[in-house]
Amino acid sequence: MFSLRWLLGAFHLIIWGPVTLTVTHAMLPPPPVQCNDSGCTLYNSYGVWNDRKDCRVPSITYPTTEEELRLAVAHANQNNLKVKVVSRFSHTIPKLACPDDAQHGSSMLISTLKYNSSIEIDIANLAVTADAGVGLRELIDEVERSGLSLVPAPYWEGVSVGGLISTGAHGSSWWGKGGAVHDHVIGLNLIVPARKSEGYAKIIRIGGRDPLLNAAKVSLGMLGVISKVKLSLEPAFKRSISYDFTDDAHIEDIFMDHGKKYEFADVTWYPSRHTAVYRYDYRVPLNTSGNGEYDFLGFQPNSILVSKTTRSSEKLLESARNVNGKCALATTFVGFKKLVANGLKNGPIFTGYPVVGHQGRMQTSGSCFIFNEDRHLLCLGSKNQWPVLLRDNSNISCLKIWRFSPRCEETERPLNQRIFAGLTSTTVS
Ligand SMILES: Cc1cc2nc3c(=O)[nH]c(=O)nc-3n(C[C@H](O)[C@H](O)[C@H](O)COP(=O)(O)OP(=O)(O)OC[C@H]3O[C@@H](n4cnc5c(N)ncnc54)[C@H](O)[C@@H]3O)c2cc1C
Repeated sequence: MFSLRWLLGAFHLIIWGPVTLTVTHAMLPPPPVQCNDSGCTLYNSYGVWNDRKDCRVPSITYPTTEEELRLAVAHANQNNLKVKVVSRFSHTIPKLACPDDAQHGSSMLISTLKYNSSIEIDIANLAVTADAGVGLRELIDEVERSGLSLVPAPYWEGVSVGGLISTGAHGSSWWGKGGAVHDHVIGLNLIVPARKSEGYAKIIRIGGRDPLLNAAKVSLGMLGVISKVKLSLEPAFKRSISYDFTDDAHIEDIFMDHGKKYEFADVTWYPSRHTAVYRYDYRVPLNTSGNGEYDFLGFQPNSILVSKTTRSSEKLLESARNVNGKCALATTFVGFKKLVANGLKNGPIFTGYPVVGHQGRMQTSGSCFIFNEDRHLLCLGSKNQWPVLLRDNSNISCLKIWRFSPRCEETERPLNQRIFAGLTSTTVS
């Protein structure tokens, strides 16, 4: 039988390990495409694709300008090659960036890794136009330096401008145009195949009122290569964020009001712990005091030792069908997240609510990327990450929320207990 004492020892390590470790460098993710004499392999950021098969591609090209991108598409068209674009991150979770018949030698990848030099800010018209390969963090920092803010952004900054709009990446907001970045796109350039007389590929400039824009922006890389993206901006602002870790009673009624009341509201639900975490998140004027940031816990570098210990604990508990142990583990996770406010920081650490900071530092994070390589810590997407991340992941529609009431103490529902205690280690949000 699995020993609870051993488990508690592991909890201690899991909780305090990251705090007590003095090493501050992380193992960064390797480039997503690795090539040798026999061709290239596109890797998933989680280590394996959902079909567990490699994505093999005969060749890849790294254009640095829009014209080189056009020539790459022309080459593919002329030679009848299937082509997909991949960013420097390749952080899409499904196998979207893999050309269809990669195994058969008639495909190629176009990488935007080196196509990332231009970020043009139009202060008067509150807009920014960036090369599709520009990283979200670089874009946000440049925009904020100009005294403006990008309103929507996903929680994870390890994405390119082209990749994030192609998949409809989003943060959280029901206000205005909403929290999806593509709804703030006001123009883009798309490179598509063309006739021989046009040089086999051409650049289409799609403006804000063009009906093609809706199709072109969230196109999963299927309609052509997006080369430039123009986004609307707003004057710079700050945000004030507090978390309320509370009972999840009536969550199905409360979340609507919560979303209406707070511009960037979100709710994280830990069903087995009866806990809902309401994020009170709204704009405050630029002169409000505070220089905090949201450095989301899950996107900070993790100790390999802690990650492995956590994974081993979960596996042992699962194989022993130890529901109490899983519930205890879930309690520990929630407790730790509450203690560190999920990664909100007033300064170097979290000292209390509310945390106020510039918009550019309060939505999207990924502090892993700012560390140098070290063998003790790892980032999302680094080689050793996959054993840690292969946990249960579920998406539950808002409309179905009230159909669940899984509780650790509801002993008459052992299956639900196991499933939802496991979920608590990952969360529902
Ligand atoms: C840890 C993590 C956290 C995440 N958090 C969030 C989140 O909070 N919110 C959210 O909505 N999503 C989130 N995602 C998903 C992420 O936003 C998307 O997977 C995003 O598409 C990744 O961008 P990328 O630049 O890595 O694109 P890639 O993975 O390189 O490409 C994604 C798709 O876009 C296409 N594409 C890329 N660039 C171009 C281009 N220039 N022209 C045409 N097609 C192109 C590719 O062919 C592919 O089909 C997260 C992913 C991870 C791994």
